[in-house]
Amino acid sequence: MSLTGKILIAMVAAVLLGSLTQQLLQSPELNSVLRYILNDLLSQGLFLLGGKIFVASLKVLVVPLVFVSLVCGVCHLRDQSSLGWLSAKTIGLYLITTGLAISVALILATWLKPGAGVNMPLDADYTPPATMPLIDVLVNIFPTNPVAAMAEGNMLQVIVFALLIGIAIGRSGEFGDRIGAHFNDWNEVLMKLVTVLMHFAPYGVFCLLFTLFSQQGIGKVGDLLVYMLTVVGALLLHGFVVYPLLLKSLSGLSPVIFLRKMRNAQLFAFSTASSTATVPVTLRTVEERMGVKNRVAAFAVPLGATINMDGTAIMQGVATVFIAQAFQLNLAMTDYLLVIMTAMLASIGTAGVPGVGLVTLALVLQQVGLPLEGIALIIGVDRILDMMRTAVNITGDSMVSVVVAKSEKAIDTDTYQNLKAGEQE
Ligand code: ASP
Repeated sequence: MSLTGKILIAMVAAVLLGSLTQQLLQSPELNSVLRYILNDLLSQGLFLLGGKIFVASLKVLVVPLVFVSLVCGVCHLRDQSSLGWLSAKTIGLYLITTGLAISVALILATWLKPGAGVNMPLDADYTPPATMPLIDVLVNIFPTNPVAAMAEGNMLQVIVFALLIGIAIGRSGEFGDRIGAHFNDWNEVLMKLVTVLMHFAPYGVFCLLFTLFSQQGIGKVGDLLVYMLTVVGALLLHGFVVYPLLLKSLSGLSPVIFLRKMRNAQLFAFSTASSTATVPVTLRTVEERMGVKNRVAAFAVPLGATINMDGTAIMQGVATVFIAQAFQLNLAMTDYLLVIMTAMLASIGTAGVPGVGLVTLALVLQQVGLPLEGIALIIGVDRILDMMRTAVNITGDSMVSVVVAKSEKAIDTDTYQNLKAGEQE
């Protein structure tokens, strides 16, 4: 059976068994031995441990892989001056797709009115997150200490440092050639590790989702049903209509093949709710399954995991309209523009980790003068939406990588067309 099939079975089994366990744990009549086995031994014991080890082993690869792979990509560039154009194209496309995403979300939310008539109690324990001034978000891109940047997993700083080292290696003649060859070898070794790790995915995914669903269940949906459906509708529209259209019109490549090859990476993103933790898998998918050359993929994928969050922007658009409606406040046309601008800027410099979208939502709400307490309304159902939007986030990163690669003639179209390329048995 294919790896995707195994992961899917693990997911379905985990959601069903996890939800069943949650129901059982709720019941006061449950025998204490059974409660101990289900809760302490499995949900909070074995499976929690398995899930944590799985995410840790993905995360441990992120910084070394991004650094090595990007240095490798840049130092072997024949024409380093093309780097500026490549970055401009990638960043431009990331901004445009995010702008499109949030506009789709705002239109859909204004039409479906998810917050109309909502009268919900606020979560009493909730304190709004502290926000970072936008200027700091931009200043923070430049590293002062590369070791600290790596230790903190600050992706943008690691990217900037890797670009500089890569450029210098490329210009250092025979010395650079020697070091460049080492980086190449390291890149192969780290990629191999990703491949090995992916074999454990079905177990890791089962552990993560079982723990989540046995503790939380689906959550209290109630008045939030229309909100959730609006977010999910906008995510599906963006993932399955906007991306394929953009891919086809900008690169001429088949969107069906693209979506088929994305499946594994999307499942990883869904289960971990973290684009950063998924970087090794996204990078492998884009390079080995779709044939994008390392010099584009190594730059575009990690950059996208940090600055391109279309799914997150969609949630923020719908949430802003929802909160305004729930508090019966009106948003003017300028407010909508402000929401679009802030959501685009706010996603730069925030790492792709679970729940970060809610923190940056605070920034958006603040800009248009909506009460931050509104976040407490939607926090209960955010985790499941987080999983879905993370899958959209990494799909966007990969789509842009493929489009940029095509325009740079940095994609092997035979590999792209071959459905079996880079597949794991
Ligand atoms: N979890 C998302 C990601 O990693 C970010 C968010 O929307 O919270 O891409």
